[in-house]
Amino acid sequence: MPDDCIFCKILEGELPSARIYEDEHTIAFLDINPWTRGHSLVVPRNHSRDLLDASDEDLAHVIAASKRVAGLLRDKLSADGINLLNSCGEAAWQTVFHLHMHVIPRYVDDPLRLPGRPQQTDPEELAELAEEIRA
Ligand code: AMP
Ligand code: ZN
Repeated sequence: MPDDCIFCKILEGELPSARIYEDEHTIAFLDINPWTRGHSLVVPRNHSRDLLDASDEDLAHVIAASKRVAGLLRDKLSADGINLLNSCGEAAWQTVFHLHMHVIPRYVDDPLRLPGRPQQTDPEELAELAEEIRA
């Protein structure tokens, strides 16, 4: 574990957190700067930097725990929907470099809007791009 990893420190109990769930492989706690009420983070007990660094096993544990946390948020906070978000790399908004999944409860008429805007493309362009990625 890197000395400066805040999520490892939370896992070790060296930093406080508002825990809502834990199991053998993961913990979940409330985000300190929530996007909506109940915005949570699921964090594997093993340190890995991000999606590409993590083992398939840890990723599977994180998804399974995210499903349980989503159920809690639906049942206890009456969430109407859930967004899962993982940021991998600084360019993708990652700020804490210990793998985590955001579990963001959504409420009908909540003000949260994602910044992405769908763009126009055509099937030929998509086929060329798919070829480039597959090659
Ligand atoms: P990301 O930008 O995807 O790396 O997300 C990191 C998240 O961790 C942000 O939403 C922060 O608000 C949250 N965060 C940072 N420090 C803490 C902390 N000590 N306890 C709870 N959440 C934190
Ligand atoms: Zn860590």
